[in-house]
Amino acid sequence: MRSLAVLGATGSIGASTLDVVARHPGRYRVGALAAHRNAQGLAALCARFRPELAVIADPACVDELRQHLRASGTACRVEAGADALVEAASGAHCDTVVAAIVGAAGLPSTLAAARAGKRLLLANKEAVVMAGSLLKAALHAGGGELLPLDSEHNAVFQCLPRERGSLAGAGVRRIVLTASGGPFRGRSRAELAAITPDQACAHPNWRMGRKISVDSATLLNKGLEVIEAHHLFDAPAERIEVVVHPQSLVHSLVEYIDGSLLAQLGLPDMRTAIAYALGWPQRIDAGVGTLDLALARRLDFEPPDLATFRGLALAYAALRAGGSAAIVLNAANEEAVAAFLDGRLPFLAITDVIERCLDELPPQPTSDLAGVLDADLTARRHATRIIAALSA
Ligand code: NAD
Ligand code: MG
Repeated sequence: MRSLAVLGATGSIGASTLDVVARHPGRYRVGALAAHRNAQGLAALCARFRPELAVIADPACVDELRQHLRASGTACRVEAGADALVEAASGAHCDTVVAAIVGAAGLPSTLAAARAGKRLLLANKEAVVMAGSLLKAALHAGGGELLPLDSEHNAVFQCLPRERGSLAGAGVRRIVLTASGGPFRGRSRAELAAITPDQACAHPNWRMGRKISVDSATLLNKGLEVIEAHHLFDAPAERIEVVVHPQSLVHSLVEYIDGSLLAQLGLPDMRTAIAYALGWPQRIDAGVGTLDLALARRLDFEPPDLATFRGLALAYAALRAGGSAAIVLNAANEEAVAAFLDGRLPFLAITDVIERCLDELPPQPTSDLAGVLDADLTARRHATRIIAALSA
């Protein structure tokens, strides 16, 4: 029986994970659940899944969490604060960690899970983008394994030879990541000037948290995924391509040197990727139905519009620049997306803020978590100044 810590339990990935877990009561138990501020939601999950440990990252919400747990008669240890996330990821109550916190806030716990030798089911792509090399070193030191939850990387993982998680020696020519194109595919820049947060979050194929939904609309999500693929599969930028596939049925592909192109297909439902990672190397039921190809009728592909959706081009530039450039890209994006969701920044300015941060903050080498967090903070401060000036 595997014991899970689900970090980001109240989010979209958290809910899909717990849905799969609930289908296999004899196979998985929940050792820890963690969330940011949603005390009520976390308490309800604790009442249902009975973890040993519940962590609420914002200490201001801990009393509310305790009250809800008491009201439902749920007994579990309660901890609060960012350090408690690290404990939730590394303690003896779990052998498997689902890293599903959104943004840089997930980095320390993701690294801690790797260092502690857990099986790491990784959705928190921002952690890989910021500190891919540190994460790989931590995995090596801990002796655990990483299984990607991001649907594209999960697809690539499924299309690579079983014994290798990376491209090295596998005869791979390139990785092709598919992108839905987001809710504004086909629109011009002029048509994007007045986009509202709700319009940006209305993704055509996937229901996800608000931050990743905005990232999908700018194509920055695909940019983060290119950097994620670079780290997870040891692939140089020139061997990672992106193709727009509006139906989101082909989740990504691997091309081999003999010309073979292997793809993973399925309905757009994250439970498939989650179940694959939970059960690996076995297959388990995900609760996902059949993709009826005759009903779907067509699979379309087209090149991404890099001029309108500059997020993808900026991410390739950051990957090629190296050093802290990917940290700057991610931090500037997190700040700009938060400002956009707050109504403080227009949609098109998100990528302007990122571009200016990349131009104005030269890449620095980073060799440890403190250095990564320092570069992250510097970039956030810079982005905040640019956003304030733009919205004045
Ligand atoms: P979400 O907004 O639905 O959920 C985020 C979760 O993180 C919540 O449980 C929230 O409480 C927690 N959280 C937020 N800030 C935190 C903090 N400071 N400390 C502790 N916990 C915090 O987001 P989501 O859509 O589930 O995405 C989660 C991650 O998975 C993101 O990195 C995203 O890019 C990635 N991902 C999501 C999907 C998807 O379909 N939703 C697909 C691929 C990858
Ligand atoms: Mg994805």
